Amino acid sequence: MITIDGAFGEGGGQILRTALAVSLVTGKAFRIDGIRAKRGKPGLLRQHLTAVNAAVEIGNARVAGNSMGSLCLTFEPAGIRTGAFRYAVGTAGSATLVLQTLLPPLLTADSPTELTLEGGTHNPYAPPFDFLQRAFLPLVNRMGPTVTATLERPGFYPAGGGKFTVRIEPVKKLVRLDLMERGAVLHREAVGIVSQLPRKIADMELAVLRNKLSWEGGSFRAEEVPNPRGPGNIVMVTIQSENVTEVFTGFGERGVPADRVALTTVDAVRDYVAAGVPVGRHLADQLLIPMALAGGGRFRTLPLSRHSSTNIEILKQFIDVDIAATKTGQSAWEVAMERSQLNNS
Ligand code: ATP
Repeated sequence: MITIDGAFGEGGGQILRTALAVSLVTGKAFRIDGIRAKRGKPGLLRQHLTAVNAAVEIGNARVAGNSMGSLCLTFEPAGIRTGAFRYAVGTAGSATLVLQTLLPPLLTADSPTELTLEGGTHNPYAPPFDFLQRAFLPLVNRMGPTVTATLERPGFYPAGGGKFTVRIEPVKKLVRLDLMERGAVLHREAVGIVSQLPRKIADMELAVLRNKLSWEGGSFRAEEVPNPRGPGNIVMVTIQSENVTEVFTGFGERGVPADRVALTTVDAVRDYVAAGVPVGRHLADQLLIPMALAGGGRFRTLPLSRHSSTNIEILKQFIDVDIAATKTGQSAWEVAMERSQLNNS
């Protein structure tokens, strides 16, 4: 059984999700100790527990340690189940991170699956639904499967209550993806969204973005969530280029001025645009998993986050793939994966 140190590297929930996902794909059992050891409140939170229990069902798995606050888990999968499943995080915990756990094994399963996921859809420190839909899933689809995600209603932190569905048409084997160039920018868009909060917050954020980004062309739009479940605000910038679409999100927080939320987002967009790379920081750590499962691929990205370097080490524990991350410029890295020479069968 593979043993994983939950305090390793980034030391948070990412280690657990990646281990679950890759264990499901490879059928290799694992044990993790010190789950989320580097967090103020370590152990399984509602979001992680939902992901674990969903992985148990989808992977016909034997499990021990699947309770709230648990610091240790053993997981032994026994084949992938497909069909229709519904999982609710039950709090504003991120439902998109539950998808991050379940999607990899379903991409190469025997038959299609439809997942209905409920909880937070636009949470700080998690992929917002729009990022999945516009940035991540189109790249996954380029590897062969057809994954479509539909938002039924958004759920903002802290009220949650969001819902989306994901339909997955699998393939036998993922094909490699090479994403070295961004290509020309085709479209730029900034959207400020408010849920049960004054529209002027979004207007203020958009004014800052308009001023600082100085786009020629591109659109700016404020939206109010119909039938909101609770208060929330995000600002989202989408840069659609020939070879990739990236989405940058700023999350409004009580006590944080709207212009600060917008300025943080401007910084992220500028870093990405200036670096000239196709893959942004968050997309990088998420892309590593399907690429490793495809057994190869390459991309250029911003300096690797701790989530990415930690993911690389966890992937290597399960899969025979060589992963090299090389600094190629001031703000550019290249990640290259090849199936290990030792195990080329
Ligand atoms: P904890 O660290 O408390 O255990 P967690 O389990 O909720 O937290 P992390 O381990 O921090 O989550 O993982 C966050 C994941 O969400 C990473 O894959 C990261 O790339 C992704 N993510 C975070 N913010 C964004 C964003 N703005 N856009 C896209 N993806 C994001």
